[in-house]
Amino acid sequence: MLMTPKQKRTIRKGLVVAALLLLSATLSCTSTKSLEKLRRSLSSSPPAAQPPSAENLLDVRGAIHVHSYLSHDSQGRPEEILQAAADAGLDFIIMTDHTNPKIFTEGMEGWQGKILVIRGMEIIQERASLLAIGMKEFIDHKQFPLQEVVDRLKADGVLVFAAHPRTYPGWRRLTGLDGIEIYDIFDDATDHKSRYFQYFVDILFVFNRYPDEVFLSILDRPEKELLFWDQATQSQRLAGLAGNDAHQNVRVLGRQLDPYSRSFRFVNTHLLVPALDPPSLLNALAAGRGYIAFDILAEATGFLYGAQDKKRDWRMGEEVPFHEGIELYALTPQPGRGRLIKDGVVVQTAEGTALSFYPKEKGVYRVEWLLHRGDRWWPWIYSNPIYLR
Ligand SMILES: [Zn+2]
Repeated sequence: MLMTPKQKRTIRKGLVVAALLLLSATLSCTSTKSLEKLRRSLSSSPPAAQPPSAENLLDVRGAIHVHSYLSHDSQGRPEEILQAAADAGLDFIIMTDHTNPKIFTEGMEGWQGKILVIRGMEIIQERASLLAIGMKEFIDHKQFPLQEVVDRLKADGVLVFAAHPRTYPGWRRLTGLDGIEIYDIFDDATDHKSRYFQYFVDILFVFNRYPDEVFLSILDRPEKELLFWDQATQSQRLAGLAGNDAHQNVRVLGRQLDPYSRSFRFVNTHLLVPALDPPSLLNALAAGRGYIAFDILAEATGFLYGAQDKKRDWRMGEEVPFHEGIELYALTPQPGRGRLIKDGVVVQTAEGTALSFYPKEKGVYRVEWLLHRGDRWWPWIYSNPIYLR
């Protein structure tokens, strides 16, 4: 039988659709198995080892880089943001709506129930995205070159962190920054275009059953951010934080992928503070006295990384005069795989919940911890460095 060109085209289209459906079904089937395994593994986390207590310091955790209806790209209401923060067990959130004077008249600040809210703003200018944290008044930054904006903010006691360091590289020209985002949820979700088809299939078929597990499939070691950070800390102290970049504005196929509650549980910045109040939080953030953790995998509260000799102790973020006999140590509340990284290179590994190392030379030393859940090892904890100078 002879077919007309139109019939041939119809058959070809039909075959393509059938192949795509078959591929989707296969992918979603393999997905379901590993997602179920991951869920079981997440829900059966062994109880945390007794968290070692940092002397006289509380380990508080929060979400940083949060948008509300005061940003053009979010509709989030204060009540739902606070409810999500409470549900995620957070101690604090740092609001960073896009440039808008209303942040200072309508925006949240201070204690809201049990959540401490710090006011900030996200400034995008000259190919840089900056989080200005702890702002007291609006600055019309577009009037000034960006370096002058940073200088003015710093003179006002505001902390300035580079956000989206890989997509907005303009921060690298600036001086006086307190730190950078070493992880940003949005950047991680969009960094592998080749995975979009799998994401699409998962959202279509399995997201309703496994929302957290599907969301976890975006998670990778933030290679570029860590590279920038390891390079930059060679010549300056630069604290690392996690950007939740929470907007609650991604809806695909009728599914809300990023409700605040999920963004807030996914990754947190932990800070070691003498008390939970704004000055203590801001001091710890600027000093890098803390770490970031993907608490959705297992709560990391109690993680410690420090240095000690016979006479005293130092915490993450501190500069320590290098001398013989100093020990770098890390302790985690869940067993996993530890790595001690000096100037970007692994110098020691550990299995379990503890790591110890006696450095023989100066350098910038930080710790990463991985956790095995489901089928794979996941990034879990990234500490701030200790600077042995
Ligand atoms: Zn943002």
